[in-house]
Amino acid sequence: MKALDELIFDNRFARLGDAFSTSVLPDPIAEPRLVVASEAAMNLLDLDPAETFSPTFAELFSGHKLWSEAEPRAMVYSGHQFGSYTPRLGDGRGLLLGEVVNSRGEHWDLHLKGAGQTPYSRMGDGRAVLRSSIREFLASEALHALGIPTTRALCVVGSDSVVWRETQERAAMLMRLAPSHVRYGHFEYFYYTRQPEQQKILAEHVLNEHFPHCLGAAEPYLAMFRDIVERNAELTAKWQAYGFCHGVMNTDNMSILGITFDYGPFAFLDDFDANFICNHSDDQGRYSFSNQVPIAHWNLSALAQALTPFISVEALREALGLFLPLYEAHYLDLMRRRLGFTQAEEEDKPLIERLLQLMQNSGVDYSQFFRRLGDQAAELAVQRLRDDFVDIKGFDTWGQDYSARVEREGNTDDAARTARMHAVNPLYVLRNYLAQNAIDAAQRGDYEEVRRLHTVLIRPFDAQPGMEAYAERPPEWGKHLEISCSS
Ligand code: AMP
Ligand code: MG
Repeated sequence: MKALDELIFDNRFARLGDAFSTSVLPDPIAEPRLVVASEAAMNLLDLDPAETFSPTFAELFSGHKLWSEAEPRAMVYSGHQFGSYTPRLGDGRGLLLGEVVNSRGEHWDLHLKGAGQTPYSRMGDGRAVLRSSIREFLASEALHALGIPTTRALCVVGSDSVVWRETQERAAMLMRLAPSHVRYGHFEYFYYTRQPEQQKILAEHVLNEHFPHCLGAAEPYLAMFRDIVERNAELTAKWQAYGFCHGVMNTDNMSILGITFDYGPFAFLDDFDANFICNHSDDQGRYSFSNQVPIAHWNLSALAQALTPFISVEALREALGLFLPLYEAHYLDLMRRRLGFTQAEEEDKPLIERLLQLMQNSGVDYSQFFRRLGDQAAELAVQRLRDDFVDIKGFDTWGQDYSARVEREGNTDDAARTARMHAVNPLYVLRNYLAQNAIDAAQRGDYEEVRRLHTVLIRPFDAQPGMEAYAERPPEWGKHLEISCSS
């Protein structure tokens, strides 16, 4: 375990030079105080959890102090936003402070979000508000606990500094960790600005540092792209299986590592709704829940375009063709597990589709349904759940087919089935209203609720005594929260 001042840095991205990022110092926020920290994320850096009690902690994560080995840089990138190309974006309010090497030899980017203006801030103030920082913190650690690949969050530091969004709010900073902050948009930037040398340097960096297992392939860049396609197929399958809506799948928000990245107005589904749009400025529903699958594919083709200097168009097309079949295989596998099946049957896909349609028609709570389906023997569980459906007859038919399907598995141990299902069906998910309650308290200066919610969400599958309220369906007000896109 290390103290804060014992971290070892190896700033590989900074060494790529000024074509890739600009040196900028963090602009501190006033009266920093620790809102919440993740012990699990600290562990990634070998940091002693007791370090949160040191006054240096909030100072380092609010821009007041800097490690001597840190080299804060704002990265340049571009990207397709809502389908249109924006030629220059870049870190407008976040800084890559450096890369920490842990005892396992892993590199972790320290990215301080809300660190002030940079050459890429455009009209923005370079700040992040407490509300969005708490949402990203909770989501990062909650998705990780669900087994969904994601950037991590080390802490949120709050402040007295005032920022203006729709109303006056308080600034905060989030310390984000990831093995890399390279986005699809990095490749797009060097491709569309016609900088082949820099693009080669970027591609080599990503291949060598993040996809070293592809170096031995006949065509390393193609192997890398295939891997990116595969990772995204799996990531998207996990989002869909767990009802996670990202909300802003622009290519500048897509990680080259296939991890959930850049949290904005995201949401977990409460009632199942395939057409759910969590982003209120997404008028066309481009990033609606069910559109995430074709959009993930579309984004990969945008990346493929930017990789044409390294890989033949034919090979790129072929690799892109892997996405949908891989997605479907992962999705079906996850949904089978959520339903408690250990074997695959041809008819599972229509069985799942029929269930989702019934849930859609009746507004059934997506997470609770699967959890409760595993609470009891299949026949008893469907009996108990039928009242949630408007089309009771339709659900009864589904329930009979489901029970018969469970029986065909030949495994009659109900306790084992419950354990298996509860291990993949969370009791606690980050519902918007839970985040909102925690944010409301934090805005009054009370951080207890954020901390409690965090501890509940990092063990999503385990029933935690006294935390029953966190497993409830949202109250009526909590179902229709308009999550502001400003952050
Ligand atoms: P996002 O919607 O957070 O993914 O951000 C899109 C782009 O806008 C990125 O280049 C951000 O760095 C930039 N940006 C977002 N908010 C701000 C802000 N408050 N100040 C400066 N730049 C920002
Ligand atoms: Mg972004």
